[in-house]
Amino acid sequence: DCSSRDMRVPANAMSSVKRVIAVVSGKGGVGKSTVTASLAVAMARKGRKVAILDADITGPSIPTAFGIHEKATGSDAGIDPAVTAGGIKLMSLNLLTANETDPVVWRGPVIAGVVTQFWQEVVWGDVDYMFVDMPPGTGDVPLTVFQSLPVDGIIVVTSPQDLVSMIVTKAVNMAKMMDIPVLGLVENYSYFQCPDCGKKHAIFGDSHLEKVAMELEIPVLAQLPIDPSLAAAFDTGKIEQVERNYLEDVAARLDG
Ligand code: ADP
Repeated sequence: DCSSRDMRVPANAMSSVKRVIAVVSGKGGVGKSTVTASLAVAMARKGRKVAILDADITGPSIPTAFGIHEKATGSDAGIDPAVTAGGIKLMSLNLLTANETDPVVWRGPVIAGVVTQFWQEVVWGDVDYMFVDMPPGTGDVPLTVFQSLPVDGIIVVTSPQDLVSMIVTKAVNMAKMMDIPVLGLVENYSYFQCPDCGKKHAIFGDSHLEKVAMELEIPVLAQLPIDPSLAAAFDTGKIEQVERNYLEDVAARLDG
């Protein structure tokens, strides 16, 4: 039974993770990793102990966003996560491969095995919130993560164009089939606010967000603008230095 969650694997013996939140998207490039990283930063600023498990194995961008380039080290207890300037623990395949630019030429089940190993073998320690940056779509890896890790809820990241297609509904339905609560939708690239006149422009046309959220019976958590400074920070390892964090309210809501 594919929707069975009896395949849970134990966490590392040195770890105690209170809440696991998976961040998913129907397709790549919608800003899932940006949302994951910003949410983690917002939660850490609230004084919570935060970790990010980068399960987006074939396109890992979390270490880059935090400016982490050194390799992971380990001991008999397991693999030590990298720790960011703001105290966020993270693990990503990029911390284990020899070259960040080497492609990962593994098939789904092998990749899924790596994600499970991150849960089991990384010495996470005490964590209040672990955010899992999921690979896009509804393939092998998301299925394994949902079956093997005690995911408490998922956040779905979408773009305005995304909402008119079926992929968001598929991602939401997958979570529902696995009995994992959908915490809500975050729409990225919702608008662009003109820095000169302050007017908001819906670059990708009017949003269908409210309608889709209503149909799927899930709340809208946030709408993020297209913000070139956010892209610049994310792409140059300065995501923790971004002053305006669009996920602040979402972090407060999750923590509330
Ligand atoms: P995904 O994880 O869904 O593949 P990413 O989070 O890696 O997408 O984002 C893809 C690119 O778009 C990155 O370079 C990121 O900096 C940029 N980006 C994401 N969200 C925004 C935004 N709201 N405004 C501007 N650039 C963004």
